[in-house]
Amino acid sequence: MRHQLKEIVVISGKGGTGKTSITASFAVLGGADIVLADCDVDAADMHLLMQPDIQQSEAFFSGAIAKIDPDLCTGCGLCAEVCRFDAIFQQDDKYVIEPMNCEGCGYGPRVCPEAAINMLDANVGDWYKSISRLGTPLIHAKLGIGADNSGKLVTKVKDEAKRLAIAEDKQILLVDGPPGVGCPVVAALAGADYVVIVIEPTVSGIHDLKRVQELIAKFRINSGCIINKFDINLDVTNEIKKFISAAGIDHIADIPYDVTFTKAMTKGKTIVEYSPEGTGKYLKTSWQKIKQLIQLESE
Ligand code: SF4
Ligand code: SF4
Repeated sequence: MRHQLKEIVVISGKGGTGKTSITASFAVLGGADIVLADCDVDAADMHLLMQPDIQQSEAFFSGAIAKIDPDLCTGCGLCAEVCRFDAIFQQDDKYVIEPMNCEGCGYGPRVCPEAAINMLDANVGDWYKSISRLGTPLIHAKLGIGADNSGKLVTKVKDEAKRLAIAEDKQILLVDGPPGVGCPVVAALAGADYVVIVIEPTVSGIHDLKRVQELIAKFRINSGCIINKFDINLDVTNEIKKFISAAGIDHIADIPYDVTFTKAMTKGKTIVEYSPEGTGKYLKTSWQKIKQLIQLESE
């Protein structure tokens, strides 16, 4: 009997909340049931914990970028005059385009009397199909230098991970989502069955949580909250609990402050491997709870 794939996306209002460490621990706990997708493509660091063996690597192209053919360019400067993004510069008696500034609007090519400007597919980055050191399939990516179109690269990573999960009849697609509430997060949330929000009890943390909740509410996805370092500010932790209760967000766990997060990361280990009887226990409980919440069969 084929499994019905469930998609769990782990996000946070900002970076540095322990999101990737927690997701990596869930990957260990999920074992052979999982395909892992690292959709935090702007700051991808899942590979540090998963030490992937790359099986397939592909360039990802999206959008367009202009390029001037120097053999055709007469140096009239018309294109530089119309480019609103200051992407075109004079170089000796010709003009050249700075790819990092080009927004691909296509206006330059339209004004060039010599048809010297071509629109090419832009290389946004590379994506990889790998096997992690755990044996878990991992789809991940590296955003190209200066590329800011990460929403489309996130969608590519998720689509490939989903395809693989279905082909291999896995139960769970586990996604390490990007921080914030921008386009990459929207791309990561599309199609999710459950969202895990990792939050810290700081004043900015509760502000981030409210923004994330507004976004999730639009998608109508069930969600749960892990309060990491809950004991660094109990007043804000209580405020977070009141907020999530009123917003219908499940309370998954309170994890105490623990330097293990950093120590484990520097050793290339997940928390459940590095501290199985310490903070790892909170993550085991969290994973069981998440599985129940999305109505997966218990092992
Ligand atoms: S408009 Fe065309 S010919 Fe003129 S500077 Fe630009 S690329 Fe060169
Ligand atoms: S395509 Fe648009 S942004 Fe790019 S160089 Fe031409 S005018 Fe500038």
